[in-house]
Amino acid sequence: MMTQKDSKRILITGGAGFIGTNLCRRLINEGHSVICLDDLSSGHLDNIKDLLDHPSFSFIEQSVTEKIDVDVDQIYHLACPASPVFYQADPLKTIRTCVDGAFQVLELAKRTNARVLFTSTSEVYGDPLELPQRETYRGNVNINGIRACYDEGKRIAETVFCEYYRNFQTDIRIVRIFNTYGPYMHPQDGRVVSNFIIQALHKEPLTVYGDGSQTRSFCYVEDTVRALISVLENDIFYGPVNVGNPHEITIREFAETVLKLTGSSSEIISLPLPQDDPVRRCPDITKIKENIGWMPEIPLEEGLKRTISYFS
Ligand code: UDP
Repeated sequence: MMTQKDSKRILITGGAGFIGTNLCRRLINEGHSVICLDDLSSGHLDNIKDLLDHPSFSFIEQSVTEKIDVDVDQIYHLACPASPVFYQADPLKTIRTCVDGAFQVLELAKRTNARVLFTSTSEVYGDPLELPQRETYRGNVNINGIRACYDEGKRIAETVFCEYYRNFQTDIRIVRIFNTYGPYMHPQDGRVVSNFIIQALHKEPLTVYGDGSQTRSFCYVEDTVRALISVLENDIFYGPVNVGNPHEITIREFAETVLKLTGSSSEIISLPLPQDDPVRRCPDITKIKENIGWMPEIPLEEGLKRTISYFS
């Protein structure tokens, strides 16, 4: 049973987005008070509407790029459009969200002495030349490409976090999240998981970009959320840590898995591969396993069954 002393006041920026919504629910269930800050640009009020009347939940509709005026013990900084379709819709805004958002969140952490976790991304590795990706790998990002607004935005945000740590001893944590899927994904975010499931359920063709030989590794959101909490709760900052499921699969195999699990008769068609689409992506999770004791538990087929049932 949680005592009042254990119960924390927690800010989640981007709390109405996909991972944020799952995180809000988990922390409220654990007995904490959650403040969700979101400008609803890619997050949705629908995701949190059943939480709005909860006594331990409050919602602030605001951009993370403006001054945040709350008093909290912990901050999870998630706010940023994260799917390629969303972050490329307004690239300059994405850059401002990454940079100005990092400063606003860190200034708040400094004022309130809060511990703050930044959700960075596997995109900091770009189109990786090292496999699987370890945290020591410095990446292969096309700085002038269409993914750079997000990749470079997240990279500079990591730098800003590390400078606050060095200059002001701000109590930071950094996680690099690899592809995550599950309930509360946005149906129109253009991601492969939501696209394929919705296409299969509607008996429309599954749109594989390129020849489908590119790989991704998909982590179920419940595992991801558990990792974020474990990293933030850990009293030592180990530098950036990868969070993801190391089970690597080609996009074509992934399409076939979705067809099998939905029982759909949709065909698979091929569309052009977008620019700078990473060829292979797979996390090395040794660091988080050894230091924090986290590993994913939900296998792909199990997570997909739950996600399909959410979208149905
Ligand atoms: N993809 C695809 N069909 C789709 C959407 C995505 O083949 O309808 C591919 C995309 O080209 C990429 C992978 O699936 O290789 C994962 O794309 P997603 O947008 O989910 O995220 P990313 O990992 O690229 O950020």
